[in-house]
Amino acid sequence: MISNKVIEIIMKIVGDENVITSKEERLCYAYDSTPNAFLPDLVVRPGSTEEVQSIVRLANEHRFPLIPRGTGTGLSGGSLPVMGGVVMDLTRMDKILEIDEENLVAVVEAGVITYKLQEEVEARGLFYPPDPGSLKTSTIGGNVAENAGGPRAFKYGVTRDYVLGLEVVTPEGEIVSVGGKTVKSVTGYDLIRLYTGSEGTLGIITKIYLRLIPKPEAKKTMMVSFPRLDDAARSVTEIIKRGIIPVTLEIMDDRTIQCVENHKKMGLPLDVEAILIIEVDGPRLLLDGQAQLIAELCQNNGAQQVRIAETDEEREKIWAARRAVSAAVVQIKPTKISEDIAVPRMAIPEMVRRLKEIARRYQLDLVIFGHAGDGNLHPNILCDQRDHDEMQRVEKAIGELFKAAVELGGTLSGEHGIGTMKAPYLKLEIGEAGYDVMMKIKKALDPNNILNPGKIFWSENNG
Ligand SMILES: Cc1cc2nc3c(=O)[nH]c(=O)nc-3n(C[C@H](O)[C@H](O)[C@H](O)COP(=O)(O)OP(=O)(O)OC[C@H]3O[C@@H](n4cnc5c(N)ncnc54)[C@H](O)[C@@H]3O)c2cc1C
Repeated sequence: MISNKVIEIIMKIVGDENVITSKEERLCYAYDSTPNAFLPDLVVRPGSTEEVQSIVRLANEHRFPLIPRGTGTGLSGGSLPVMGGVVMDLTRMDKILEIDEENLVAVVEAGVITYKLQEEVEARGLFYPPDPGSLKTSTIGGNVAENAGGPRAFKYGVTRDYVLGLEVVTPEGEIVSVGGKTVKSVTGYDLIRLYTGSEGTLGIITKIYLRLIPKPEAKKTMMVSFPRLDDAARSVTEIIKRGIIPVTLEIMDDRTIQCVENHKKMGLPLDVEAILIIEVDGPRLLLDGQAQLIAELCQNNGAQQVRIAETDEEREKIWAARRAVSAAVVQIKPTKISEDIAVPRMAIPEMVRRLKEIARRYQLDLVIFGHAGDGNLHPNILCDQRDHDEMQRVEKAIGELFKAAVELGGTLSGEHGIGTMKAPYLKLEIGEAGYDVMMKIKKALDPNNILNPGKIFWSENNG
């Protein structure tokens, strides 16, 4: 509970209109994109770094949890107040401060929507590649805090690869600036990397310097279907071996294809084990040749059908199938548990086999799609949160799928972070010693456990 005295001080810092006390409005902040809900005691919407700093200091003085939040699109429970406290909504800090076309750097406040920045830079012939599926609603601050990836990560990397500098309010209320507009910087410890992906547990990110690159001239998209999943995986490797780095290499399994086709007739083949959506970008002159070579490689590897988009409309149709996945799978059952493992690329077929076997054993409906180039798969379990027995089976299946990913040399999370959803499994991947190092960092930087408690490190009190 937050005392009236503290609420009054917070109102003085940010203005009454930027403090949410009513239960109805607080409810909007009880959710992210996981099926869980935790009601915050209060919501505050600061408008400047100094306001953030004052609230963090107050939280230390009065020992209440502070949970940074962008737009709540997170898929690991990161922005939920699992131990109560104050949710800090950073979306008022939404200014693009500078687009420096000479140095190829954008400077933004944390609450800028990812797509808005991309539109702004693309209008100037520049490019900010990280493209989480949520880019039209997520914030850059949230992307940095989660080190978000996206379909373009295989060629262009993830958010981390574009962060040149950060302004961060530390858990004890200091303002730290690291990095800036230089491409290189090796001054002391790499704090940028430490804060990037720290899921709101080590600092509140207020300002971000992002690297930009020139916008590729053109792109070419194709959809390839494979009767056998192994052939799809082998094709991916061969494309890369031939020196072509596609910008996206998306994969959809048979059950995902069925769900999409049931939801909206798109003419997808229902007799195949996998579909790849492949996109290449770069100088226009090179793209036809690359697309032809990819088509040949896929055909030599057992592809059933290759569709190369010749127009923007055809390209749009191909991507519509991929974009329809989220909407299609929620038609099947009301709850979707969206996982995010990554394995070495060549382990994809084995991982898919194990996933299907786990789903069969626990009698669960499972769809698998993801980024084949990165080995990053999103197994989604379709279930009903109200069915206690089913949810128990889901929990067991999730434990097994994480174990399988680690056994195959993979990781619990390719891009969605640990949050609360994967906290119980963290040691499975990093072991006791790794956990201990991470915990020591958290304790050293946040001795009062103010920032986002209950995340990453699992505890009985997680809620
Ligand atoms: C439909 C859909 C598709 C998605 N696709 C992808 C994808 O392709 N790739 C991918 O990586 N993710 C994806 N996500 C997950 C999610 O969108 C990303 O994790 C995104 O980066 C979260 O941004 P947000 O602004 O919503 O942050 P929130 O969900 O509000 O917060 C996420 C975490 O970041 C912390 N945080 C937020 N802002 C700050 C800040 N300024 N300072 C410190 N900590 C902060 C929060 O405490 C929390 O731990 C998807 C989600 C959905 C719903």
